[in-house]
Amino acid sequence: MKFCPQCREVVPEGANSCVYCGKPLSSPQQSKLEAAPKSSQHNEKREMGYGWSLLGFFLGGFIGFLLRPATWSDQQLPFLDVITRGSGLTGVNAMWVSLAERSFNFTLAGAIIGTCISLLIGYLIHKQKEP
Ligand SMILES: [Zn+2]
Repeated sequence: MKFCPQCREVVPEGANSCVYCGKPLSSPQQSKLEAAPKSSQHNEKREMGYGWSLLGFFLGGFIGFLLRPATWSDQQLPFLDVITRGSGLTGVNAMWVSLAERSFNFTLAGAIIGTCISLLIGYLIHKQKEP
């Protein structure tokens, strides 16, 4: 059962305007339902793209991090020193700051390359699914 918001009279279902006072009856709930599938489909596609790029970002960053240069003693800097570009290194360890910066660049480059590759893969998979 449907009621007119203006005069509170009962109006027939599907009526565009009230039969008593003539007020146009909009049905926002119905139009929302009709619009929902389109936007959610669009969001799903967009979220999938975000997922791909995020996955590639972390995977590429991780690979870049693993490939980071090592010190003369064949030791790689811990993640915290890499991500802060060696800002926490003091005293004798301060000589590793440039190494930490290079390690950071490796990680960053890996993340960027990983993002690009995963976006490309995501695009190709999406393209294949399209008829
Ligand atoms: Zn009315």
